[in-house]
Amino acid sequence: NTFQDLGLNEDLLHAITDLGFTKPSEVQDKAIPILLNNETDLVALAQTGTGKTAAFGFPMLQKINIDSRTTQGLILSPTRELCLQITNEMKLYGKYCKGLNVVAVYGGSSITDQARDVKKGAQIIVATPGRIKDMISRRLVDISKIEYAVLDEADEMLNMGFYEDITDILSNTPEDKCTWLFSATMPKEVSVIAKKFMENPQEITV
Ligand code: AMP
Repeated sequence: NTFQDLGLNEDLLHAITDLGFTKPSEVQDKAIPILLNNETDLVALAQTGTGKTAAFGFPMLQKINIDSRTTQGLILSPTRELCLQITNEMKLYGKYCKGLNVVAVYGGSSITDQARDVKKGAQIIVATPGRIKDMISRRLVDISKIEYAVLDEADEMLNMGFYEDITDILSNTPEDKCTWLFSATMPKEVSVIAKKFMENPQEITV
């Protein structure tokens, strides 16, 4: 398969060419058509370094409405480093999506600055659980209209004790959104989350 075969649009294909990605990785090959062509939940068993950021990032970038400034996509990640890394990748992937705003929200940095960036209109927020929970409770972010939620490195987030934060955050999102869970391992805690927050998820393993 080529990226074109997967159904990605010109803006994304242009960025992919710039990045020098010649063909989809396995997780991209499996996840992208499912996510582009369906409004479905997904459980993906995939390690880091497999290209999973693009596996959820490309479909999210293609499906959101960039003409709107409403927050439509939320990506939760366990650490500040990963949050920044995902944000950078999303910006690279979306460099030709005119008007796109991807904002990182994470602890240990100015909440005021992050709130200001969000307020300018972020279609996608990439966040660590603690900080975004705090910002939700202070009404500095509104995730009540998101359509796509990604739980990245779900096993790590649960290991770090974010179960309650995740539950709390997702309770502020619409029932009918799509949830895409990525995890390197599938311990019982991850299946519990999947059962609790997802409906008939498609499943892929790489
Ligand atoms: P990730 O697993 O998302 O952290 O991606 C690992 C690295 O692989 C990142 O630096 C990506 O930019 C890169 N990458 C992602 N997809 C591809 C691809 N299809 N071809 C080559 N490199 C890729």
